[in-house]
Formats: sequence, C-alpha cells, structure tokens
Amino acid sequence: MIGRCGAAALEAVLPWTCLACGRIQGGPGLCAACWSRMPWIAPPQCVRCGTPFDVGAGNAARGRICAACAGRPPVVAATRAALRYDAASRGLVLGFKHADRLHGAPVFADWLRRAGADLLPGAGLIAPVPLHWSRLAWRRYNQAAVLARHVAARSEVPCAVDLLVRRRRTPSQGDLSREGRRRNVAGAFAIGRRWRDRLSGRRIILVDDVITSGATLAACARVLLDGGAAAVDGLAIAQVVDPVGADLHPGSAAPTDLSSTLP
Ligand SMILES: [Zn+2]
Ligand SMILES: [Zn+2]
Repeated sequence: MIGRCGAAALEAVLPWTCLACGRIQGGPGLCAACWSRMPWIAPPQCVRCGTPFDVGAGNAARGRICAACAGRPPVVAATRAALRYDAASRGLVLGFKHADRLHGAPVFADWLRRAGADLLPGAGLIAPVPLHWSRLAWRRYNQAAVLARHVAARSEVPCAVDLLVRRRRTPSQGDLSREGRRRNVAGAFAIGRRWRDRLSGRRIILVDDVITSGATLAACARVLLDGGAAAVDGLAIAQVVDPVGADLHPGSAAPTDLSSTLP
C-alpha cells in the first residue's frame, strides 16, 4: 500500500489515464468519449428510490415519488447513484471493486457527492456497507469504506467506517429469488460496539459501490433503524434501475439478471 506522500509523488510522475478505457489524458476521471457513453442518472427522478422517471414505472409517478414508493415507502428512505448499473458502467464499477483501481476513489467520491447533493446536508453520519473480515483479508480493502471516507472528507458529515459489522459471510445474491436474497442477508449485520446507543435521532447515509437488488442495503438499514437511527439513506456509484426498485420496494418485480454478474 502506497502512503499518501508516495501516491502524490507517483501522480506527479505518471500520466493520468481514463478510468474506463485507460487512454492517457490531461486529468483524472473519464475521457470525453467514455464520459459521453456513461449512463448518468439525472433528474427528474423519484426522491425516494432515485429511479429516473424516463424508466418504466416513471410513467405512473405521482408528483416527485414513483408509483412503487408511493404505494409502499422503501426501508431506505432515499437512494441516489451517479450511474445506472448496465453494460456500459459495469467494467468501471467492477474495476474499482476488484482491480485495485483505488486511484479512482476521489473521482468516484465527487460523483457520489453530486448524486447525493440533496442527502448530504444535515446528515448525521456517513458509513460503508461492511465486508466480512475474511473477504476484507483477501481483497485488502473495502471499496465502500474508501468511498465513504472520500465523500465525508468532501462534506460536513462525519464518517464512521466501523458503524456496521458483517457477522457472517453471505453467499452471492445473484441466483437467489427475492425472498431468498432477503433471507440470505437477514441477521448478517450488526451495529459496531462503539456506536451502540449513539444513533438516536441521526440520519445515516450508507455508501456502497453498486446497488443491485437493494436487499443488502435494506438489511443494513433495518439494523440501524432498530438501533435508533432516525432514517437511513443509500449512496452508490451505480444502481440497477430497471425494473424499478427491486428489493427496496417490497412486493415489486424480480430484479434484472445484471445482479448475477456480481460476485
Ligand atoms: Zn476513456
Ligand atoms: Zn421510487
């Protein structure tokens, strides 16, 4: 792991490369061509689940809330992501997750800050969705924690990387039914010892790299709400938005098979 000074020195020597295609360019982030082909999520969107209204159920939206959220409010009060998770954004997200593309973290955090601009003011804590320790040892870092730290450093909100702990390792969610996914992550999370009795009245923003079915985020939110949090929001680089909502909305359609591309 390169220290902060070492990383700064490397940046001074190495040229910037596009996070998606790897071409050399004049600054950090994406080249113009990759930027223009990324599936950015833009308003108008549901103020709760974040689904842009140009997707399916947006047609049935009531005011600023989509029909699914109006019918049954999601456990995660508000979800925001910079990108739709699809064929165009998948490589970028998986690269950050698996390929030690840590140098992209400040750029991704800027995207998160923009996507979560309406959530960050007044939030009580920013925290990552935790990895199980065994996975952390293998992967060496929790990409969600890296993101959470960078987003917190760019806002007034304090970061709590140890807010949640993963008590057991959960199998991949990809091939499970909706009920199966809910059961898979039920009881998998707990509030970190340092934070018990300190959540009362706080609105918490949970950070992850990608939200697929939303089952993991919902399980984390339930634990925090049971622990006294006032509300829980979600913020990610990318989110599956078609079909609308998936597990964030109890009773909605099965999620797209894109989730099965994740480990
Ligand atoms: Zn590029
Ligand atoms: Zn919605």
